[in-house]
Amino acid sequence: MFAIHLLAFHFTKLKEDQIKKVDRYLYHMRLSDDALLDVMACFQAEMVKGLGRDTNPTATVKMLPTFVRSLPDGSENGEFLAVDVGGSQFRAHQVKVFDDGKQSSQLESKFYPTPKEVIQGNGAELFDYVVDCLVDFMETKNLKHKKLPLGFTFSFPCRQTKLEEGFLLGWTKHFKVRGVQDTDVVSSLRKALKKHKDIDLDVLALVNDTVGTMMTCGYDDPRCEVGLIIGTGTNACYMEDMRHIDLVEGDEGRMCINTEWGAFGDDGALDDLRTEFDRELDLGSLNPGKQLFEKMISSLYLGELVRLILLKMTKEGLLFNGKVSTALLTKGKIEMKHVCAMEKYKEGLSNTKEILTELNLFPSEEDCIAVQHVCTIVSFRSANLCAAALAAILTRLRENKKLLRMRTTVGIDGGLYKTHPQYAKRLHKVVRRLVPNCDVRFVLSQSGSGKGAAMVTAVGYRLAAQRKQIDAALAPFLLSLDTLREVKQKMRTELEYGLKRETQASASVKMLPTYVCGMPDGTEKGKFLALDLGGTNFRVLLVKIRSGRRSVQMYNKIFAIPLEIMQGTGEELFDHIVQCIADFLEYMGLKGARLPLGFTFSFPCRQASIDKGTLVGWTKGFKATDCEGEDVVDMLREAIKRRNEFDLDIVAVVNDTVGTMMTCGYEDPNCEIGLIAGTGSNVCYMEDMKNIEIVEGNEGKMCINTEWGGFGDNGCIDNIRTKYDKEVDEGSLNPGKQRYEKMTSGMYLGEIVRQILIDLTKQGLLFRGQISESLRKRSIFETKFLSQIESDRLALLQVRLILQQLGLDSTCEDSIIVKEVCGAVSRRAAQLCGAGLAAIVEKKRENQGVERLQTTVGVDGTLYKLHPHFSRVLQETVKELAPQCDVTFMLSEDGSGKGAALITAVAKRLHNVGQK
Ligand code: ADP
Ligand code: MG
Repeated sequence: MFAIHLLAFHFTKLKEDQIKKVDRYLYHMRLSDDALLDVMACFQAEMVKGLGRDTNPTATVKMLPTFVRSLPDGSENGEFLAVDVGGSQFRAHQVKVFDDGKQSSQLESKFYPTPKEVIQGNGAELFDYVVDCLVDFMETKNLKHKKLPLGFTFSFPCRQTKLEEGFLLGWTKHFKVRGVQDTDVVSSLRKALKKHKDIDLDVLALVNDTVGTMMTCGYDDPRCEVGLIIGTGTNACYMEDMRHIDLVEGDEGRMCINTEWGAFGDDGALDDLRTEFDRELDLGSLNPGKQLFEKMISSLYLGELVRLILLKMTKEGLLFNGKVSTALLTKGKIEMKHVCAMEKYKEGLSNTKEILTELNLFPSEEDCIAVQHVCTIVSFRSANLCAAALAAILTRLRENKKLLRMRTTVGIDGGLYKTHPQYAKRLHKVVRRLVPNCDVRFVLSQSGSGKGAAMVTAVGYRLAAQRKQIDAALAPFLLSLDTLREVKQKMRTELEYGLKRETQASASVKMLPTYVCGMPDGTEKGKFLALDLGGTNFRVLLVKIRSGRRSVQMYNKIFAIPLEIMQGTGEELFDHIVQCIADFLEYMGLKGARLPLGFTFSFPCRQASIDKGTLVGWTKGFKATDCEGEDVVDMLREAIKRRNEFDLDIVAVVNDTVGTMMTCGYEDPNCEIGLIAGTGSNVCYMEDMKNIEIVEGNEGKMCINTEWGGFGDNGCIDNIRTKYDKEVDEGSLNPGKQRYEKMTSGMYLGEIVRQILIDLTKQGLLFRGQISESLRKRSIFETKFLSQIESDRLALLQVRLILQQLGLDSTCEDSIIVKEVCGAVSRRAAQLCGAGLAAIVEKKRENQGVERLQTTVGVDGTLYKLHPHFSRVLQETVKELAPQCDVTFMLSEDGSGKGAALITAVAKRLHNVGQK
């Protein structure tokens, strides 16, 4: 008993001594966490350098764009071939993926040797050999008659210019083939394929093994956005934001970057960490001075590093009694498989002993312990370095996403990672320690490098098919210049109908006279009340106008109009309005005052004078009963009477377009047009009296409220209405009415987008085919979202946030599509609006009989003011369609409030003049 203890003690002591000896000897290879954090920071900086246009040429980490922009989404399907060059063997694969909702796939592969004369011969022979392997594979699988898409996995650094073109930057690993560097490897493969008349294949994608690994894992785990290889070589790829990739046009979405991290340190950055063994190994390699990081990590070099260490230790008398064997002197005698076997600690020292004996080294127990520990230090260093660089990538991903914590998946392939007994565990542990704020899942790729190329091809196929469907859905929103000219022409025709006595009753553009004939001249003054009904908010205002100074002071209060009142009875609506006025007068301390009042009422009204307006029909969200056909001024007066608390002098009923025109006209006398692009869409303009048949008199001008929102209600623009427009119309409060407004205004744009999103989702093109509960709700998609989505410069983070709030779990591709949909809808709206406005300015130019017209349009409305593109596209369209008009756009400040007061003031002034 005692003896055994003593023996065990003796052995432990002996082991400790050996381990201490090796630890001391290889002190430099044992990296602390601080050292690893340094490596991580250094690698992060290298990535930035590689991504920058100016810094890329001198960067060691090349950060090569792969033109792979999308990950699999599980709906891929089809049959593909792949050929894989760059690992320890050549491989040919046949891959079938099934669109069965279960992410299932079938893979059949065949391996081929890589004879030295091929991988270190000349280019033509290499590609001929690859094609021979492929042809043999097709024969074996009886595929020769089939025309299949081919993916080409080529695991060397290539400068890609598209998915199926890549120029070799330089050989790595054990390859050194003449005449290939700087040439396009895809066209070389195609050339070799052409020699075989009996097969017909097309190379659709050139893929690095890292990318293949990421794609293969991504097929099963949608979170996978990093691919890692730790085998013959080492390398990593990940999904980078396009906005950071200087070398590729475009800012949207993401693209996979092949880091080619094996070359990290080629500029000396790792010199402090490199040991004399690393230097010696490098000098003896095929590519001295290159791939220095790879040489510290990958399986191709691990065994050799161990050999060099053992050799030196032996020479110094620290091992094998100082006796060097011929085998130990021979390059390549220790391979990765030996290292793996020796580190099988569970099997004690037997493997180590056997391997060393085969090398004629006559190992003692101590020697075996020491050698085993050497292996551990060398392979652990490999895992440590790999973990540090991976941690840098993960941190970058997390920062790109602006997340404090990130969940992600890394797909991994490679012999060292897969076969070494401790490697994976060590790597995972160190990574998690270095990036505590990332929850990383590591997924082993099943033959990633081969299947991956097929996956890339399959994703490409899926995207092409989806693109077609999306283009088809959005095509009706793309209006050609000719179509827009036609819209302008039709608008012009409708404007004329509305002005003519015989046609105006049935005209879809009602051209309502407003009895506003004069513009402010600056002499107006006094205190006025104004009401603003018909926009998002109902407001009561007090406006003080001072003469001569063109300055106006305003006080206003917003009141809510509950839905049940908006859609209740007319009496209730007007009682509510009077209640709000009473509150306001009380609030302003004006209870007894009898002020002149202008009533901005932004619905179509047929007026017989400036203070009479019969509601033609509700639009937008209003639907109170017993109002249509009634005079709104009378209804307001009656409600005031019912309340019997105060009296008001209702001078004018005003449309918000007119108010807007007036407000801008107060500052710019050239302003004779008012445009609203807010909840609704409408225009007014000053028309020559002689053209207005339904109003007596031929002198001067009068403002016409076009009510152009109804344009098309007679079906004249049905040729450009899409099925989505029809759905929006059918679900609205006033089906069949305001067709133009429903294609152009804030109340409806979001709803059009929602209809398209639902349709695309049903077609399986978005959100993995899942329509969230909230997306089913009418009006949930607000027009302000279009503005936010279309101004997103933050890698679509904003888009994803909005979609998330709607319960839609979106991928990066989804966000791009949603943004595209929003863009199509808002652009069409702006163009249609522009075409309408072009008709108006053209008409004014003809009225005046001038070659060129200079005119100003006063504009109000949140859509116009806040949407990032609407105003620009509208203006461009007007310019294009009315080239003889120079149109200035002037933003109105609170047209519907200030304007009403100004009109009231002008009316008062004219009235007073009339009385005198
Ligand atoms: P109104 O036309 O109702 O008098 P606005 O001109 O403020 O008032 O327009 C409000 C409408 O503008 C809303 O109904 C909404 O459809 C739209 N809207 C609101 N915010 C935005 C935004 N950020 N971008 C584009 N449209 C918006
Ligand atoms: Mg408004």
